[in-house]
Amino acid sequence: MENLDAVVIGGGPAGLQAALTLGRMHRTVVLLDSGAYRNAPVEHLHNFVTHDGRDPAEFRALAHADLASYSSVSVRRVAATAVAPSDGQFRVELADGSALTARRLVLATGVRDTLPDKPGLAELFGTVAAHCPFCHGHEYAGRHVALLGAGPHASRLAAMMGPIAGRLTVLADGVAPDPELAEALSRAGVAVRTEPVAGFCRSAAGASVSFAEGPAEEVGGLFVTTAFAQSAPFAEQLGLDLLPSGCVRVDEFQRTSLPGVFAAGDLAHVEALPMPMSSVLTSAAAGLVAASAVVQDLLAG
Ligand SMILES: Cc1cc2nc3c(=O)[nH]c(=O)nc-3n(C[C@H](O)[C@H](O)[C@H](O)COP(=O)(O)OP(=O)(O)OC[C@H]3O[C@@H](n4cnc5c(N)ncnc54)[C@H](O)[C@@H]3O)c2cc1C
Repeated sequence: MENLDAVVIGGGPAGLQAALTLGRMHRTVVLLDSGAYRNAPVEHLHNFVTHDGRDPAEFRALAHADLASYSSVSVRRVAATAVAPSDGQFRVELADGSALTARRLVLATGVRDTLPDKPGLAELFGTVAAHCPFCHGHEYAGRHVALLGAGPHASRLAAMMGPIAGRLTVLADGVAPDPELAEALSRAGVAVRTEPVAGFCRSAAGASVSFAEGPAEEVGGLFVTTAFAQSAPFAEQLGLDLLPSGCVRVDEFQRTSLPGVFAAGDLAHVEALPMPMSSVLTSAAAGLVAASAVVQDLLAG
């Protein structure tokens, strides 16, 4: 397909909303979705008014039903493999061997998480283990909650979970907290286990934490910090400016450093933030802003 108004790469909340906004403005758009969503491990998404507790797959199905009302929008469940500027437009190569050409490009490919390297953790991520108290804190209300790692974030996370958890334990994993942190945790009534963590396994209470030595700990919830990285190579292929977080630098209109290319969702944020405000709602909102900016940009020629 040639001369589309836009190609949106990514079928998570950012890309789905961008496609909806473009469709409502009768712009020709193809949305590409390789089917790998950041919140794939979870059964319920939270903290989005009207969608609180909804299955993410159902959220996407509802979004596809919305898009079906707009005849200028096509959805293709195929991965993009390469993007490049081409004669004043953008050419997008697809995994099925075909290609698209569009006047504007919206990148909404998200990020991928890497968990701390601990046996059993991956099986718990998204249910008993989580990385975001805004998404999962309430689900652990009243339970014994563990926080893996005694880095600088531990006291803030403990303070956020203080009013929610029944009891908190920092799993320092062989790295004793510095005296200032130890003091802050002790003042807040947070226990610290300093032994190296050997692994996790699901249990009746939630998870059982085993250590290199000493008794196991039963917890009802666990917070971990993930490392995240771009899930697609397009920022690199296009030479877009990145921020120290590894995300694409965008301005308030989701414009990247390359004219005609917009980015929305977890893969991008404005420079004033240290990292993306990762959530379904903020990603959808960014998709709306990006698509609105695409429409204005198309009007400009
Ligand atoms: C365990 C977990 C739980 C979470 N829980 C919540 C919660 O309860 N509430 C909440 O608000 N947020 C939650 N989040 C955060 C939320 O999932 C993300 O902020 C949100 O999904 C980001 O949306 P996005 O559209 O940027 O990216 P994603 O949802 O990750 O979507 C990326 C899209 O890009 C596509 N893609 C990638 N590469 C290509 C390619 N080469 N070609 C074509 N398509 C491609 C993918 O297939 C996918 O469609 C959670 C995150 C995690 C990890």
